[in-house]
Amino acid sequence: MTAAAPIDLGAPPPIPEAARHRVAELLASGRLHRYREGDASPGAAARLEAAFAELVGARYAVATNSCGSALYLALRGAEVKPGDRVLMGAFTLAPVLGAIVNAGAQPLAVEITPDLVIDLDDLEAKAEASGARHLLVSHMRGHICDLDRLAALCDRLGLVLIEDCAHTLGATWAGKPTGSFGRAGCFSFQSAKHVNSGEGGIIATSDPDLAAQAILHSGSYMLYRQNGTCPPDAVMARWRDRCANFSLRLSEIAAELALAQIAELPARARDWNASHDRIAAALAAEPGFALPHRPQAEGYVQSSLQFRLPRFSAPLMAGFVAACRDRGLYLKWFGVTEAEGYTSGPKHWALLPGAPAAPRSQEILDTLCDLRLPLGLSPAQCDRIAEILVAAHGDVATRNAP
Ligand SMILES: *Cc1c(COP(=O)(O)O)cnc(C)c1O
Repeated sequence: MTAAAPIDLGAPPPIPEAARHRVAELLASGRLHRYREGDASPGAAARLEAAFAELVGARYAVATNSCGSALYLALRGAEVKPGDRVLMGAFTLAPVLGAIVNAGAQPLAVEITPDLVIDLDDLEAKAEASGARHLLVSHMRGHICDLDRLAALCDRLGLVLIEDCAHTLGATWAGKPTGSFGRAGCFSFQSAKHVNSGEGGIIATSDPDLAAQAILHSGSYMLYRQNGTCPPDAVMARWRDRCANFSLRLSEIAAELALAQIAELPARARDWNASHDRIAAALAAEPGFALPHRPQAEGYVQSSLQFRLPRFSAPLMAGFVAACRDRGLYLKWFGVTEAEGYTSGPKHWALLPGAPAAPRSQEILDTLCDLRLPLGLSPAQCDRIAEILVAAHGDVATRNAP
């Protein structure tokens, strides 16, 4: 075997040529802030909001400096009050917990299923036991639950649904965009997500009061009419003097970068899914590997790949991750003892005040691996990735055979 060169899985989505051009023009003009006195011509952030609302099929969109900020403002706009309990899926990223804490609320974890989506039975039990009025669900790593069932269940339980779509920009359930099933959907433009503007986020909602509060809280000053999808004046009048300015705006540069990439989403989705499906198919045929079941109605955009090795103990999992890294493949593991890089889970948040526990989910995460998929992987690279995973698994399993 020839020594393998590392495969760089960390490459962010590229910045289109047209966007670089427009950013250069923006720099020449110096107009880097989205709000302007005495000039109402729509800037990049406003155009992004109009385009994004249309993409998701929402009436309004509000751009923010991150998805974490978007989640925080969506929770506030949905009337989460300090001391409230907010339900969240246990499989998520740290800023989701952070958004709930930022709103002064108490996070309560709902377990996930082995298919990596929220467990609707546990949701029902916890909603009834806790009296919570809000659910913040993450379509974590692109895995989408039955959103029609979830929305109907939330209605029945009196829960306001907020969707965290940081990994599902461009994805659908039964043909309808994620982010359009609840009161609001929040998306990320951070470099590791589907649209890369470095930092950035956006809220999509059809609720005029939520949109109005988010615009004002995000820091529109009295220039809120420059938002790309501003609610009617009568709605703004209800809120304009009652919302503090938190300065969570998106910059014009980031907005230009995001706007240009929205048009590329269908092509990106095809690229990511081709890589994902090729590797997933190879692994599904291997004993020892378990892949999440993907329902027909799920229109995923899979910029990463997850699989479990359900028969492996923690030491074997650690050995498997090390064997992959030795072969030049940077694999991540949600069961790792100490949180690493972007990877963390409920057990790593245990020391945060009020951190939620989720023992059944942790058990699933203890054998769950995670592989980032950059755009532009060739079929040969995908095959090599699958070969490395299978070989590393074989090595560890044989070494530990009874
Ligand atoms: C990245 C991410 C976020 C937060 O996005 P930022 O833009 O980095 O604040 C929220 N939820 C999930 C599931 C994420 O992966």
